[in-house]
Amino acid sequence: TKPALLISACLLGQPVRYDGASKGMNTSWQQQLAARYALLPFCPECAGGLPTPRPAAEIYGGHGRHVLAGQATVHTASGGDVSAAFIRGARLALALAQQHGCTLALLKANSPSCGNRQIYSGLFDGQLQEGAGVCAALLQQHGITVYNETELAQLL
Ligand code: SF4
Repeated sequence: TKPALLISACLLGQPVRYDGASKGMNTSWQQQLAARYALLPFCPECAGGLPTPRPAAEIYGGHGRHVLAGQATVHTASGGDVSAAFIRGARLALALAQQHGCTLALLKANSPSCGNRQIYSGLFDGQLQEGAGVCAALLQQHGITVYNETELAQLL
């Protein structure tokens, strides 16, 4: 049997992004991944109960792990606090991964949920900072290795 790979649904072309778009990888990459892994497509923000489209959100005052610890928040540009939905979605992603014995994830770079290395500053100024999003951080805390779409070569 193929190893399981949790994958951001938007990378597979599902129109789940905040702006109603997808960020689908080219089909050749998708086919190569599907040949090697049992893909588990998942969108933590949708699963957490947020609508599509939805206002863009950023983590303010820290990174994903701080949100999980109640030390930072995820908010929209107009100040709405969506932390609870982000945390709920992250926990559902972890539960799905654990059900399938999944130890690898391929998540969309720079997202406040899915970013594995960088996220936006929280000030909606387009600046990136070091740190993982809420879902990526929770998966990493539980021993799941998270790659982003620029690191595909490491999975193939
Ligand atoms: Fe894609 Fe993750 Fe954003 Fe969902 S939360 S649209 S899977 S980057």
